Formats: sequence, structure tokens, C-alpha cells
Amino acid sequence: MRFPLALTYKIAKHITKNRMRRTPKFAMVLQLEPLHTCNLTCTGCGRIREYSTSLKDMVPLDQCLAAAQECDAPMVSICGGEPLIYPQIEALVVGLREQGRIIYICTNAMFMRKKMREYMAAHWSPTMEGHLKELEAQQLILPKEAEAIRNADEAARKKVTIVPSKWQYWNVHVDGLEFTHDLIVEREGVFRECVAAIRMAKILGYQVATNTTVYRETDSQEIEDMFKYLSSLNVDGHTISPGYDYDAAKKDMVKRLGRDPKEFFLTRDMTRKKFAKIEEWGQMFTIFGTPVYQEFLAGKRELTCTAWAIPTYNVRGWKAPCYLMTDGHYQGYQEMLDKVDWEKYGVVDGVARDPRCENCMVHCGYDPSGALSTKPRDTWINMKFNFSARPKPFPATPELAQRAFNGVSIGKGHLAEAKAAVNKEFSGAKSAFQRGGHDSAAPAAEHTHGEAGGCSTGAGTQQRDEVLAKLGDAKRISVKSE
Ligand code: SF4
Ligand code: SF4
Repeated sequence: MRFPLALTYKIAKHITKNRMRRTPKFAMVLQLEPLHTCNLTCTGCGRIREYSTSLKDMVPLDQCLAAAQECDAPMVSICGGEPLIYPQIEALVVGLREQGRIIYICTNAMFMRKKMREYMAAHWSPTMEGHLKELEAQQLILPKEAEAIRNADEAARKKVTIVPSKWQYWNVHVDGLEFTHDLIVEREGVFRECVAAIRMAKILGYQVATNTTVYRETDSQEIEDMFKYLSSLNVDGHTISPGYDYDAAKKDMVKRLGRDPKEFFLTRDMTRKKFAKIEEWGQMFTIFGTPVYQEFLAGKRELTCTAWAIPTYNVRGWKAPCYLMTDGHYQGYQEMLDKVDWEKYGVVDGVARDPRCENCMVHCGYDPSGALSTKPRDTWINMKFNFSARPKPFPATPELAQRAFNGVSIGKGHLAEAKAAVNKEFSGAKSAFQRGGHDSAAPAAEHTHGEAGGCSTGAGTQQRDEVLAKLGDAKRISVKSE
């Protein structure tokens, strides 16, 4: 089975309960953003921009738990910002588990290994020695870190930690292979850390999912290679979503760069072309989206957005109408359901009710539409898909790993290339950023790493411009002082 039976049962029970009660609108997944602070500053990040004035604010723990209780979604995706920075992340996970929720911890993975070391220290017993030795052998943990785990003091042993559970997934944001991913998150080495964290998590028995956003310039072959590589690491499932012309990102692009957003963002037609192989990928890999949503992405059918089914709660309250677009915040989930005119949003039979929705086909708006469809055929294909055999992990080969580590690991990091471009010919040097006559890795939509489809940006081109500008400035300064 693709999704574990106990989890499937919980979700099915939730849908049945609400259908029997004839609840018109109900939550399937809560996107819980306890904070918007992040250790990365991906250019174009929706959250660190939109909530730039409240980056230091946090939702108190009891309020987070009350929000989950209030909307009663069976699944909670803890996102942000970077949720592992939230000081009470462990207590939050424990509290949500006590409520019986399925939990996704959406992370850029930079603190995952630290959190897992804390788990090992708190639960250390000689029976863990095998795991520890394997982690050391695979260089996923340093000898001094292994020693610290073996000799954990009282405080470390008492710490509440994030333990492996069948009810919980690490949900790691990965937007491509090494070069692309590091470019999108604006830091070299992040892809490598994601892979190390995934490998460590699998050794320790955690469930791991990944989330990926596909952009205008994302190469479909690269996405397939990425899935192959992640599958070879025994990742348990993948969420994938198209980026689109998110309002804030468009404004930013016009204001800061004076560029026409149409040059960069995915339209509906482009999305359908990019996702032409999604059903094939669904057979090859454990894709978490429903087959109904996959048909929609592949352009085989229309769906109507059900943004209310994946509500977002953050420091300002319940964000409406959806994870990506903000027209207001409400103090209660029911209040939001009652006060928002949902008929104003989405695309119906190809016609956008709101121009900002025109090109949106994102997971958080449309995957629940697939899951909640009452058409007998849709129910049947959803069930058949979920109950069919889980695709086997893709064989791990040195060639596959070589294709995955195509950036800084082989001396081709994006910063090195930017520097080389600046040094070679200061004005307009053609760098590896312009492979094939276009920007090879330019992402094309606003993002954060909570939504399926992870950290998204309108940023690739902007980032490169900024990196080149900064390096240019540095070069000018050093020439002046010589
Ligand atoms: S996109 Fe995600 S990882 Fe990047 S800065 Fe924003 S919240 Fe952090
Ligand atoms: S169509 Fe997309 S942008 Fe519009 S309300 Fe739905 S999820 Fe939000």
C-alpha cells in the first residue's frame, strides 16, 4: 500500500464522519506556522517577505495546539519559517500526537541531524550501538558526537525529543538536484545536508517525505532523476506541486527588478506540459498526491479549488483564502469559513473567478479537491491508487549519485560559477547560469517550504543578479583600493 493503512483509515474516517454530518466545509490538513523565522534567506521566500515585520513573533504552544483542535484536521503540517527553530517544537509534536494527528515536520533539513542526535542521547541504550556505528561508518555523525550520545548527561537524557513514529514524517524540502537546489535556497551545501539528514533518519527508523516545487525553468528530466535518487535513499513518499504567479512575488519582481513577471512564472498551460509525466511518475515513485489531482496537473480534467480544506494558521491568525494568497486573517477557523466568500476564488471550468487564481494549480488548493471528490469514479481511482503496491525503491548506483551531486560537490557550486563569471569578464559574462541559452535553474514562483512543493521563489534570476551585483561591487572596491 502506498500510504500506511492506519493513516489511510484515519483520513477516511474523518471524511466519512464529516460527510455523514453533512459538514459543508472541513479541514483535511492544517498548515501550522508557529513562526516565520528561518535560518535560510531564500530569495523570493513568501513567508520571510510577507511576514517580515513579525519574524520574531511566535505562536504560543497552547495556541498552536488549540488551532489544531479547533479545525480538527487529521493531518498537521508544521511549517514556517523553519519549524525546527521553534523553541517548543518537541512539545508541539508531542501535543499533536496526543491529539491523534498525523504530523509532517516541513523542514529545510539543516537542523534535522542535531534533533536526531538529541533523540539518540535521550533514548540511549547499548541496543542503539549498531545504529551509532553505522552512522559513524557512513560519516553521518562525528566520533565526538557519538561519544556525547553514549555519555549523555542527565539533562540530555531528560530532554523531550522528536522520536521515530509511524504517525509522523520529516518532510524535507528538495527542489532539484544539488546545483539547482543550492541555487534556489541560496546556499551551497544545503542539498548535501538534506541527503545526510534523510540517510540518518532512515537508519534510525523515521519516516521521511520530500516536497518539491516545479518552476518554469525546472527541467522535467532533472525532477525524474531527483525522484530516482530520493527513492534510492528509501524516502517514503513525495509531494510535488507547481509554482505559479503568486501575487507577492510578481509585485516584488516588478518593483525590485523592473521585470515582466510573465517572463518567469508558470501559466496553466506550462504547468500541464511540465506535469505531462506526472501519472508515469506516480507509478514509478510513491507520489503522495491523489490520482485525481495528478490527472488535473496533466491537463486531463478540471477541478475546483478547495483552499478551505488546507487552512493556514500563523502569528496573525487564520490566513484567508489560502496558503499562498492573503486577503485577511481571522481569529477562528469557523469564523474564516463563515466570513470568506469562497465563491470569489479558484478557477471553474477554465475561468478564473479571481485573476490572481488564474494560473494556480497548487497542491494546497487542488489536491484536497481530488481527495474529497464524491464522483464514484474518482473514489474508485483514489482507492485503487492507494491500495496498489508501493513502488520499489529505485536501485542505488554510483551513476545516480553522481548525477545527484552535480554542484558544489564537484566544484560547480553556483557561487563559484558566479565568481568565475565576474572574474572572467565583469560585464555580462556568460556563466553556467545561462546553460542552453536560458536561465537553467530559474525558479518561477513565490514559495515557502511548508506547502507541498517546498520553498519556492520568484528568485532564481533575481538571486543570480544579486549575487553577481554583490561580487561586482566587491571587485570594484578591491580594484579601487589597489
Ligand atoms: S523558503 Fe523556506 S527555507 Fe527558504 S527562507 Fe523561506 S522558510 Fe526558510
Ligand atoms: S486557486 Fe489557488 S490562489 Fe486561488 S484561492 Fe485557490 S489555492 Fe488560493
